Amino acid sequence: MTSTRPVVQVSDAVEAREGAGFLVRRPFASVDLRDTDPFLLLDEMGPVDYAPGEAKGAPDHPHRGFETVTYVLEGAMEHRDSTGGGGVIGPGDTQWMTAGAGLVHSEEPTPEMLRDGGRMHGLQLWVNLPRAEKMTPPRYQLIEAARVARLERDGVVVRVIAGDVDGVQGPGRTRTPITYAHASLASGAMLDVAWPRDFNALVYVLSGEAEIAGRTVRRGQLAVLGDGDRLRVRAVTELEAMLLGGRPIREPIAWYGPFVMNTKAEVIAAIEDYEAGRLGRIVPSGS
Ligand code: MN
Repeated sequence: MTSTRPVVQVSDAVEAREGAGFLVRRPFASVDLRDTDPFLLLDEMGPVDYAPGEAKGAPDHPHRGFETVTYVLEGAMEHRDSTGGGGVIGPGDTQWMTAGAGLVHSEEPTPEMLRDGGRMHGLQLWVNLPRAEKMTPPRYQLIEAARVARLERDGVVVRVIAGDVDGVQGPGRTRTPITYAHASLASGAMLDVAWPRDFNALVYVLSGEAEIAGRTVRRGQLAVLGDGDRLRVRAVTELEAMLLGGRPIREPIAWYGPFVMNTKAEVIAAIEDYEAGRLGRIVPSGS
């Protein structure tokens, strides 16, 4: 029996300041982590128009125990880290960073963006790692815009960054089964795709208005969907939305700032390792 997933919660994003003070919209703020599992956090950065010299980022800070996935819609960011990794993330690109055992990184506007200003719009998703993978060595996947898989139907474009949407396979390699995709719908169009029964399902609206199982979901709102094996989203207006799903990890979460572990003792060990310099530091460029 096929069943379309119902909506169990519609949640408004909460605005917050991150890093050196840039504004984010945080749609998971009033959602139970058991409903977002395996995802921990979703931050929409911007859209914001920076004047020359104004663009802000997040200077050196550590992470351990999960992955940060940065998807840039407009503008550009430059990440650098203590393992020598990082790189420039431009429009349509995704940087999938497995922090694992830990690193120190910076997430900053590119020098050009800082000098000239411009429009910045992107998302950062935090994906939890299961206990067995939390201390894996750090690694990166840069998923350039051109490599993102596309599903195209009447009035519907879905860019599949990772996972599978109706047989279209995204390039991102994930530690647990996950689907992460960006959907653009023309006004009146209907997205109707298979969605694995053992995944959760979340729809975050970036712009426009959607109707999902009879509920209205607007810009800056997250829909948490219930059980079923199909995802149906109708565009009331032109619509941009992120589609997220994954198999829940269902392990205890001990979360303090940039560290997400299974126990408090593991978080304390992460803080001690960071303070002792064991997560490394970023070597300034040119030295
Ligand atoms: Mn970070």
